[in-house]
Amino acid sequence: MKNVYMDYSATTPVKKEVLDAMLPYFSEHFGNPSSLYSIAQESKEALEKARGQVASLIGAKANEVFFTAGGSEADNWALEGVADALKDKGNHIITTKIEHHAILHTAEYLEKHGIDVTYLDVDAEGRVNPVDVEKAITDKTVLISIMMVNNEVGTIEPIKEIAEIAHNHGILLHTDAVQALGNVPIDVDNMGIDLMSMSGHKIYGPKGVGALYIRKGTKISNFIHGGAQEMKKRAGTENLAGIVGFGKAAELAKENLESHINRVSELRDYFISEVTSKIPDTIVNGSMEHRHPGNANISFEYIEGESMLILLDMNGISVSTGSACSSKSLTPSHVLSAMGIPVERIHGTLRFTIGDPTTKEDIDYVIEKLVEIVQKLRELSPVSREKGWE
Ligand SMILES: *Cc1c(COP(=O)(O)O)cnc(C)c1O
Repeated sequence: MKNVYMDYSATTPVKKEVLDAMLPYFSEHFGNPSSLYSIAQESKEALEKARGQVASLIGAKANEVFFTAGGSEADNWALEGVADALKDKGNHIITTKIEHHAILHTAEYLEKHGIDVTYLDVDAEGRVNPVDVEKAITDKTVLISIMMVNNEVGTIEPIKEIAEIAHNHGILLHTDAVQALGNVPIDVDNMGIDLMSMSGHKIYGPKGVGALYIRKGTKISNFIHGGAQEMKKRAGTENLAGIVGFGKAAELAKENLESHINRVSELRDYFISEVTSKIPDTIVNGSMEHRHPGNANISFEYIEGESMLILLDMNGISVSTGSACSSKSLTPSHVLSAMGIPVERIHGTLRFTIGDPTTKEDIDYVIEKLVEIVQKLRELSPVSREKGWE
């Protein structure tokens, strides 16, 4: 049996070059970057090199990149840190209904502490309308937080336009770019981004390391309190090996950005066209024009995504139902719901995501199994029998 991983939006394997770069920092170069003797100097240099590598991928200056323990921490920090630092100016935040839970649950937490939050609707493709952003602004708004690329349907949001609106009203713009990093070109200056969340493990780096980009001069309170690490903004002895790995992954992502986008999107388009032509009653969710290169989010009418996932898994294929975060609950995906997709169709939806290691043979194998599995499940499904599916 073949093993085919098609869940690169959930996490990615660490690339060999990344692992090789990391290994010396577990034992050989173990010095604490904050120490003063010379062996610690090597650690400090490695830390600053990684900061430069991440900065270079997003068009930032190195001293605007602050390492965290992942994308979730960066999201928590951005919202809580800005809400606290600007509490005298206002208590209103604008976000969307389709954010990752690291944003949504932080926003809900802030609501319990006196912050008003507007959760914007999206259109049927999962896009935020910049006009709606402008309409939601009040004289109390201090932050607009809208993701760059959605993790479930892959829709790319009009961040540059939204940032312009934010700045016209003197409001900060944060974006969760965890899915965008390494998959779409990012330039924080050109796009007008003030704060941006990133994560290592979605770009072939290690888990448990990420960063928050903070434009120079942006007011934000600290989130993790303690020592003077990360330019006194984020305490805790640095996850040095992890940070070195994240830096290397960022360097590779920058080098390969164009070829990665071309190769992965070609496989994705082939996958979508084969699946939709070989399997009737399939619907692709999200925008085809503004889309993450590796994302294929597809609804299969009359059957359950969970049953498909199990049968695919029995054939060595790993995919996700809607979102990895909701895999333990049967509540329909908040993203697909916000796009107005009916509940029955949401339950028949799978997210396939393609990455650098994916081959055409992998895709052909998945298509072959998918055709068999959908046919088998539809034969068993009372709804599809009614529709003449036998
Ligand atoms: C994965 C993900 C996160 C969380 O990042 P972690 O490093 O796993 O904490 C946040 N936002 C989006 C859009 C993601 O896809």
